[in-house]
Amino acid sequence: MKNYLAERTKRIDASGIRKVFALGATLKDPVNFSIGQPEFDVPSPVKEAAIDAIRKGLNRYSQTAGEDTVLNMIRPRAAAETGWANPQVMLTNGVSGGLLLAFMALVDQGDEVIVPDPYFVMYKHLVRMLGGTCVFVDSYPDFKLPVEKIAAAITPKTKLIILNSPSNPTGEVYSEDEIKAIVAIAKKHDIILLSDEIYEMFSYEKPHLCVGKYYDKTVLLKGFGKSFGMTGWRMGYAACSEALKPLMESMLMIQQYTFVCAPTPFQLAIPTALDFDMSPYIEAYRKKRDMLYNGLKDTFKLHKPGGAFYMFAQKPDRYATATDFVKDAIAHNLLIIPGNVFSEKDTHFRMCYTTTEDKIQKGIDILCRLAKG
Ligand code: PMP
Repeated sequence: MKNYLAERTKRIDASGIRKVFALGATLKDPVNFSIGQPEFDVPSPVKEAAIDAIRKGLNRYSQTAGEDTVLNMIRPRAAAETGWANPQVMLTNGVSGGLLLAFMALVDQGDEVIVPDPYFVMYKHLVRMLGGTCVFVDSYPDFKLPVEKIAAAITPKTKLIILNSPSNPTGEVYSEDEIKAIVAIAKKHDIILLSDEIYEMFSYEKPHLCVGKYYDKTVLLKGFGKSFGMTGWRMGYAACSEALKPLMESMLMIQQYTFVCAPTPFQLAIPTALDFDMSPYIEAYRKKRDMLYNGLKDTFKLHKPGGAFYMFAQKPDRYATATDFVKDAIAHNLLIIPGNVFSEKDTHFRMCYTTTEDKIQKGIDILCRLAKG
């Protein structure tokens, strides 16, 4: 057959998470630690706000950046969080939409993007699709921000450094010292930081630190999907300071020709969401984290994560690779994701603990049994 497909399609492969997710659909009542999304539903008042917008006929395109009522609520929050005088804000189609727009606006053929490894899968594939090169910087075994190694990885081609705290897949939360140290390096080389803060609400030990507070050349990507159980609504926003105004203008222009706007009725539910107290939900996740950590810490090499809803543990020694371990786990009705989906290494596996305590206990039992052989 004639090759119709563009070269860029050869630079990416199917999501390893989606493959395990699809496999999960074939198992009977598995313990599912695979796909990363909350199990709770959108809070009722927030659902009502979206339904109300639909009923009122607010179903058409919005402005490219989003509805003013929503932007006017987000802007002062962004200003308070970052200290930026006049934050530039646009609503995006989830954080994925923000990532695509930011990368399209910034990454040229041959540009280098520094990514701490392990990383969220989308960074690698989007950068590659756009002809850029990811420069992975190892953060094993404790997943702290590898500041010195990042400094050493900078070249004249470095366009961006990606930060993701709280992190997917490790749950690591960067300290203020780590953030200040990376900001000093970014400033020295005049490099933009792209800070994916989609898990900001899931910070269990201390209040979330917004990277924008430390550096005005930060592109902030924030999401509503994980925070309010609305991953299917595809809502997020991007923010930057006036120092990066041309970047926001480019992202808006690209949005005109790609997504057009974020889904209007779901935009209109965001003010209700922002006023809704999610702290009991977060508290429940802290308990789940503690339960999973305490259940595994004596059997697995594992670092206690401070945020998100993931744990990233080392495979048991008796398996050659994390992929071998994951295959055995799936054969025992437990869905986990091999580390090589998020990393250049295949030594760890990711667990997402957004499930019932009963399932978490079952997962712990299966994992410990498999580790002991
Ligand atoms: N960034 C990170 C770190 C994520 O984990 C995810 C979702 N798994 C996304 C971005 C994409 O989020 P959204 O659903 O808002 O596009």
